[in-house]
Amino acid sequence: MIPIEEAERIVDEITRQPNTLSTEKIPLMDSLGRVLGQDIVSTISMPPFDKSAMDGYAVISGDDANRFEIVEIIAAGSVPQKTIAKGQCAKIMTGAMLPPGADRVIKQEVTEEKDGFMVLTGEDKNINICYLGEDIKPGDVVLKTGSLIRPPEIGVIASMGLNSVRVYEKPRVGIITTGSEIVSPGQALAKGQIYNSNAYSIAAQVIRTGADIMVAGIVQDDKEHIRGKIADLLKHTQMVLISGGVSVGDFDFVPGILKDLGVCLHFEEIAAQPGRPTVFGTWNDVLIFGLPGNPVSTFIMFEVLARKALCRLMGYEFAPLFLKGVMKKKFHRKRVERAFFVPVKYDNEGFVEPVEYHGSAHLAALPQANALLTVPMGVHEIAEGSVVYVRQI
Ligand code: AMP
Ligand code: MG
Repeated sequence: MIPIEEAERIVDEITRQPNTLSTEKIPLMDSLGRVLGQDIVSTISMPPFDKSAMDGYAVISGDDANRFEIVEIIAAGSVPQKTIAKGQCAKIMTGAMLPPGADRVIKQEVTEEKDGFMVLTGEDKNINICYLGEDIKPGDVVLKTGSLIRPPEIGVIASMGLNSVRVYEKPRVGIITTGSEIVSPGQALAKGQIYNSNAYSIAAQVIRTGADIMVAGIVQDDKEHIRGKIADLLKHTQMVLISGGVSVGDFDFVPGILKDLGVCLHFEEIAAQPGRPTVFGTWNDVLIFGLPGNPVSTFIMFEVLARKALCRLMGYEFAPLFLKGVMKKKFHRKRVERAFFVPVKYDNEGFVEPVEYHGSAHLAALPQANALLTVPMGVHEIAEGSVVYVRQI
């Protein structure tokens, strides 16, 4: 049994290969949730011209005229025709080009217009100009290879004039559910059976991370069947996630089968609760996680170990967000041989409170939680009021 930190370190080390991922060029609007496979280098300045930041009047700064003759009206998108001289101004709209001669814009709110002249009714201390290239200059790297493409990145890429983008190809993740008691949702439950929730929650976690899934379905606890399914997925995916069959029961065949298939196992037991029998191995470039069947264990071990590894396969570095909070009540436990992942609720005041949780089969506890508190090995108690960092889930 290895500490969870050691397990994280092993996964980290093994997945930190040089990036040899292939890329593809896709339409910009298909790229949400994908990972940039190219630097985005600007060929333009942003803004591309000195522009007004306000609706108002473009003037020469220091011009102390009582009233300003309006020589033209400049709409956004049009090119100014007149040069501004002392005693003159151009009515200008937000986003419009600054006319030659002018070097400041007085916002409309402190002015009045009368007989073709602008008169000041108040004071505007601001310059109200966005200068050519103040945000971006040609040659600037605006987004780096390996960036996750979210709505702001989509906007930035579009602002560079690009309507397609090079991204890393999506990894394919194989999912196998083992267990002779497992039945698909939509079917009737017979005695002794239980619905397959793991294949669904794992698939959702993979999809949320941004990868594709290849679902091998439910496999009975039968060595030959399990071996056949795993062997098949190893050939067609970059990561295989196996639910169940990793513990010490008479029908927990997965670790033995992985060894038979030539998978190199890097660990088979972690000092984590839930998640003790989690298995991690590699076969050529394929990463394999055997996740304990109890649904909370499956979910948590994916979040803690597999998610970062999957992100690496997608071409980006994922770091979970840890929120700083304060324990609302004391947390106490008797046994301390393993690190304990506690589903907790982190509220808007920054308080952390464990949700009602009966153990690793209690899947219905998870929707109540939005974070995980890690109680380290050897720690019996976390006092009320103490500061903790919880992992957002
Ligand atoms: P195992 O790791 O195969 O020993 O399974 C541990 C527990 O998790 C057992 O109570 C199983 O019935 C349950 N379990 C295993 N697989 C699933 C699954 N796909 N969905 C829901 N529960 C499962
Ligand atoms: Mg089982």
